[in-house]
Amino acid sequence: MSSLINDIETNIAAVTDAAAKKGCACFENESLRKYTTFKIGGSARVLVFVYDSNAMSELYSMCSNLNVPSFVIGNGSNLLVSDEGYPGVVFKLDGEFKDISPVDESGTLIKSGAGITLARLCKYALDNSLSGLEFAWGIPGTVGGAAYMNAGAYGGEMKDIIESVSCIMPDGTLKTLNAEELDLSYRHSVFSENSGIITSVTLRLKPDDEKLIHERMNDFMNRRRTKQPLEYPSAGSVFKRPEGYFAGGLIEECGLKGAAIGGAQVSEKHAGFIINKSNATCEDVKNLIRHIQDTVEKEKGVKLECEIKMIS
Ligand SMILES: Cc1cc2nc3c(=O)[nH]c(=O)nc-3n(C[C@H](O)[C@H](O)[C@H](O)COP(=O)(O)OP(=O)(O)OC[C@H]3O[C@@H](n4cnc5c(N)ncnc54)[C@H](O)[C@@H]3O)c2cc1C
Repeated sequence: MSSLINDIETNIAAVTDAAAKKGCACFENESLRKYTTFKIGGSARVLVFVYDSNAMSELYSMCSNLNVPSFVIGNGSNLLVSDEGYPGVVFKLDGEFKDISPVDESGTLIKSGAGITLARLCKYALDNSLSGLEFAWGIPGTVGGAAYMNAGAYGGEMKDIIESVSCIMPDGTLKTLNAEELDLSYRHSVFSENSGIITSVTLRLKPDDEKLIHERMNDFMNRRRTKQPLEYPSAGSVFKRPEGYFAGGLIEECGLKGAAIGGAQVSEKHAGFIINKSNATCEDVKNLIRHIQDTVEKEKGVKLECEIKMIS
């Protein structure tokens, strides 16, 4: 057992060395709390900022070959990180992964780096009078995280606008997948099965009046502010929408609004959200999730499935 731990430590050190040589910023035992919107969780064994595809490809295949656990963190807005942290390498995309550029002459086909926030991309679309991304205004993720999750709101989703996605596979090869190959459905993409790291996303938008785009963005943001507990740390809706129901509605009907375990609480404003009311631990949130699932299943006969991703 101890030699296995030594092996993992040696292999993590090798990946960290290689990353540093490629100019990546590496942080050992870095708390992931500050990289998630829930503000919960322990440390990553190493957090590595990667600035270009070559480095990402080499480091990702190295992790696969050496059996070093690794994953990419976006804006951490859909994550619940274990109190014990993550025992491997966490990659954060920076540098070229934050570029946005038009792909064709019409300017409506846009290539966006996966590490940029949806907020920045929405602003770019607005500034260039391009419509199609208004639904994403207020979703606090990155473009990579949004493609991975097929994020959506107010009748729109990433699936409606994605033309193709470039990614790096665990063996380090670079691939471009077209829309049909992405298997985009409700909060799902092929990347949860193929473990590809999304490097950029190509999106088809439509020309429209800047004022109208702005009005739609404002309308969606106002609806969020009224309905969502944005004043507290959270990871958004905890559960997927069960067929024929709303998770928040079921939770409210079971009298669970305001229910708390430790520092975690079912939001009084939106029962589909769990908020970090006061120094909640991952265990608090997990116990509250289980309590909600058990109660809703017993009282309503509906199984609630988690939308948020658990990291451990
Ligand atoms: C207040 C609030 C409101 C929200 N509202 C919405 C909403 O309206 N609609 C909605 O769909 N979601 C919503 N969310 C959830 C969340 O913002 C989305 O799921 C978002 O797309 C996650 O993006 P991220 O960059 O934060 O990903 P993260 O949370 O960092 O990661 C999520 C998953 O994506 C993977 N991932 C991230 N980047 C990459 C990459 N480049 N390559 C491969 N895998 C990657 C991660 O490994 C992880 O498995 C909300 C969250 C909050 C806190």
